[in-house]
Amino acid sequence: MAEFDYLVVGAGLYGATFAREAADMNKKVLVIDRRDHIAGNVYTEKVEGINVHKYGAHIFHTNIKQVWDYVNRFAVFNRFTNSPVANYKGELYSLPFNMYTFNKMWGVVTPEEAAAKIEEQKKEALSELAAERGVSVDEFEPENLEEQAISLIGTDIYEKLIKGYTEKQWGRPCTELPSFIIKRLPVRYTFDNNYFNALYQGIPIGGYTGMVENMLKGIEVRLGVDYLENKDELDKLADKVIYTGPIDAYFGYKLGTLEYRSVRFENETLDKPSFQGNAAVNYTDAETPWTRIIEHKWFEFGKDEEGNDLPKTVISREYSSEWKPGDEPYYPVNDEKNGVLYAEYKKLADAEEKVIFGGRLGEYKYYDMDAVIYSALQMTDRVL
Ligand code: UDP
Repeated sequence: MAEFDYLVVGAGLYGATFAREAADMNKKVLVIDRRDHIAGNVYTEKVEGINVHKYGAHIFHTNIKQVWDYVNRFAVFNRFTNSPVANYKGELYSLPFNMYTFNKMWGVVTPEEAAAKIEEQKKEALSELAAERGVSVDEFEPENLEEQAISLIGTDIYEKLIKGYTEKQWGRPCTELPSFIIKRLPVRYTFDNNYFNALYQGIPIGGYTGMVENMLKGIEVRLGVDYLENKDELDKLADKVIYTGPIDAYFGYKLGTLEYRSVRFENETLDKPSFQGNAAVNYTDAETPWTRIIEHKWFEFGKDEEGNDLPKTVISREYSSEWKPGDEPYYPVNDEKNGVLYAEYKKLADAEEKVIFGGRLGEYKYYDMDAVIYSALQMTDRVL
């Protein structure tokens, strides 16, 4: 009998959820993390009274009531609604694509006018694309992100608000990216700047770190412990392992490396109350080297926990880059090539009887926070 029932590798949302459920079922759980803090990439840190999202903006949103109830056990959520602004060469547009965006882009006033404008642009672009492929417009099926975007929203919005941003974020032409990425973005013929189609949305008051701390209450956590470097020794500690690191790293990259996008942040504290007046501004042109600027105080309405205005502000410029060994992986590149390689790693993973692979890196999947928690809860239902 090993000392622990479960060794959870990674103190992010998947690991914390699994650990909480296992501990509540009276299992002995040890959580380890390579970093010197818990909460993985949702980690927040206080700077000048502001909860800074150290690994990029995280806005909790979900349609799954079970998940919303679950996270509300560990934090009180504020009423933040994500309404990013796009800056295209100094022109500002509302996101996601809605009547405010269409009015600014074309001067249209009614939903009918907006729909007619989009329809006209789609028609023109699609007849060209269909002709190139030698099929009729009706038979044309979008095969990549560019085609998907144009068939959804027409060329002007694609050129000004999608192409540059997407190519910076993914480091690949839109014609080589899978169309599902863009399906995250709603298109609305109403005046609604809410980025997410989710029933529940908010940010944990006091930051995500506090929420994950509450999830891990009473559970042993060891930080600064690298699992893969001490694997044999650590494996002896537990009967089962929940591994939430990169799946290819687990197998020593023996089938080759999966591709990830990494992100670098340039953080600045400014001695003024506001820099951009919004939590997120996306720079959607191709020339600006950063993809977006986050101004963290606006996730909490510019106030501290007592409701006082904060005199300073912290901003983060976000730069996207191709992941290389030593960098933090953020986004799996879920294109066909990587999908094929992942499927091979998945076979190896399924053969590891003692280990469960979970989360964005363990399953090489562009999970949102709620989906990660849901998948961890489902896994606990299966195995605990
Ligand atoms: N996107 C875009 N323009 C924008 C914001 C997003 O074209 O101003 C597209 C882009 O393809 C991106 C995808 O929508 O990869 C998802 O963006 P989101 O900001 O939701 O991703 P996150 O980084 O927040 O997970």
